[in-house]
Amino acid sequence: MQKTRKKYFRDQLMAWFAQNHRPLPWKGEKAPYLVWLSEVILQQTRVEQGLPYFERFRQRYPTVQQLAEAPEDEVMKLWEGLGYYSRARNLHAAARHIARKLGGRFPDTYEGIRQLKGVGSYTAAAIASFAFGLPYAVVDGNVFRVLSRFFGMETPIDTTAGKKAFAELAQELLDPAQPGPYNQAIMDFGATQCTPKSPGCSSCPLHSDCTAYREKKVEALPVKSKKAQKRERFFHYLVVRHQGKALLNKRTEKDIWQNLYEFPLLELPRFSRHEADVRNSELWRQLFDGQEAVIHRISRPYQQQLTHQKILASFWEVGLPAEAVLNSGPFLAIDQKKLGEFAFPRVINRYLNEAQLTLF
Ligand code: SF4
Repeated sequence: MQKTRKKYFRDQLMAWFAQNHRPLPWKGEKAPYLVWLSEVILQQTRVEQGLPYFERFRQRYPTVQQLAEAPEDEVMKLWEGLGYYSRARNLHAAARHIARKLGGRFPDTYEGIRQLKGVGSYTAAAIASFAFGLPYAVVDGNVFRVLSRFFGMETPIDTTAGKKAFAELAQELLDPAQPGPYNQAIMDFGATQCTPKSPGCSSCPLHSDCTAYREKKVEALPVKSKKAQKRERFFHYLVVRHQGKALLNKRTEKDIWQNLYEFPLLELPRFSRHEADVRNSELWRQLFDGQEAVIHRISRPYQQQLTHQKILASFWEVGLPAEAVLNSGPFLAIDQKKLGEFAFPRVINRYLNEAQLTLF
């Protein structure tokens, strides 16, 4: 690849960045803790959605020490609604590691940063370049897209060979004199100009030399070798209320929504509104063995789309006679008024918001 073409790409990109600066609270931030916080929040999240979370975390935990000292449930509650909860767990675990094992000092080398829990090569490069001015190129979905289109690279981005080729090209293109601004420029360019759908090619300063534009391949790039399979899951929640208490479960299994709370869950191979499917379950027996439990209402279906799974949930509101004794078994019997203190998956929050007036 000609040197002049790479130089053209870099120069045009930096000129575009000078004109199209997006003022965001973490831009130009040098404190590694805050750079890290913003990068973790922005993984898989749109800027508009992540912004209030960044502000909330920065206010509640201004230092890594304060984050390390926070109870895990509190951190999860603050993260509620942002999804990909392993990010919050890893963030918290890494903060504790920094506070307890590194004497409160954020690592200042790429390798040191990369060793923090939940920090992959992309986040490590972002922190290393933004906070410490180290020459590491970021490679994320934006970078794959921009490079594959401009340079006409058709190697699938989800293969080992593709990842290597794009990482090498990204590193060659990086401006070593200003790695932080260069990384920010290519990320912003991918997020606002060279977007996945309907990119702004006609107003793009790179279009006169862009391979995909010239060869009418913009929509076809980048190339992926596999199509992600989506798994469908059917959740039937038993909303059991009795004498001012509600039953909750903390999800501790290695599955989606780890460490979030939910109502007692019956997962079935298909979506059901038949009482018999629920009444004949082991969960029902465990909760109401021999008791006159009544199903008052079955909610409408609620859907939540995750990256590789689609969740369809319904909520079965169940009551017991006033004199009955509720067998909470392995579940937590919590005061209904305290439901708001627990962190739930979005699908449960949506149900609670709708049901709140009549239910709790
Ligand atoms: S011309 Fe279009 S495809 Fe090419 S870099 Fe610009 S926005 Fe992306």
